[in-house]
Amino acid sequence: MSKIVKAKYNNFVIISTITTDLVSKACQIHQTNPPASAAFGRALTGLVLLSSAFEGTKVEKLIMQFLTDGEISEITVETNMKKQFRGFIRNPNPHYEIKSNKLPVGDVVGKGLLYFYRYFNNEVYQSVSEIISGEIAEDIAYFLYNSEQIPSAIALGVLVNKDGSIKNAGGIFVYSRPGISESELIDMENKFKNIKSITTLIDANLDEYDLISIITKSWQFLEESSVEYNCWCNLDSIKRAILSIPKEEILEEVERNSIIEVVCRYCKKSYIFNKFQIFEIYEGF
Ligand SMILES: [Zn+2]
Repeated sequence: MSKIVKAKYNNFVIISTITTDLVSKACQIHQTNPPASAAFGRALTGLVLLSSAFEGTKVEKLIMQFLTDGEISEITVETNMKKQFRGFIRNPNPHYEIKSNKLPVGDVVGKGLLYFYRYFNNEVYQSVSEIISGEIAEDIAYFLYNSEQIPSAIALGVLVNKDGSIKNAGGIFVYSRPGISESELIDMENKFKNIKSITTLIDANLDEYDLISIITKSWQFLEESSVEYNCWCNLDSIKRAILSIPKEEILEEVERNSIIEVVCRYCKKSYIFNKFQIFEIYEGF
């Protein structure tokens, strides 16, 4: 379980999270190499923070998708708004060289487009924005400002051990509520500019509350909750996925192998159907 803490400071909402557990699980499932772990972990942590701003609204699902020209090519992260998160990375093993002691996250992600989908009961809203650096946090802030007109600041960090495991991960997100003054914004920008990297702060044993106090000491507590990497796929969602593939392809495959194996792209769980079960799916829906 990872924790998320929400606080208020004047006209700002400050959200902090330490997502080491959540990101570790995601990277183990997807067998990511160090720069892919950093990119994937930042995207997941970014959505953890952003989704907190949608709590109490009618949004039922959020998807953030990076489609890029870099080797990673796609990162998709989702939440069902029930504190559960899952994700997919197209290439978990991009080539890389360590440059000046830093993982080349921007290089392996590349440039492209960032899509953000908000699902309501019967509707989906899509927003799109340019990926300006591939460093993820900057791209999310750019999206919020240009596409949503929300002034915000976001810092994300994932520290990867030499063996590829996650040492720590987390982030801070500050956004303003309507009616903010220019001077308040400048004041917050300056506060945010002066913070050390998130991974350094977490490495120094700061918790979620300490991370908020780094920005300002005079915050008021709003709420605390837990989040986790936990896929919500089930037999029904996999059956629906089968129905979205052309029937001829499925029947050809089941003739050839006498079974169909469907692997969930978010949790790698395998679902196996025999010929009889496949026919049942076509009859049952
Ligand atoms: Zn799954």
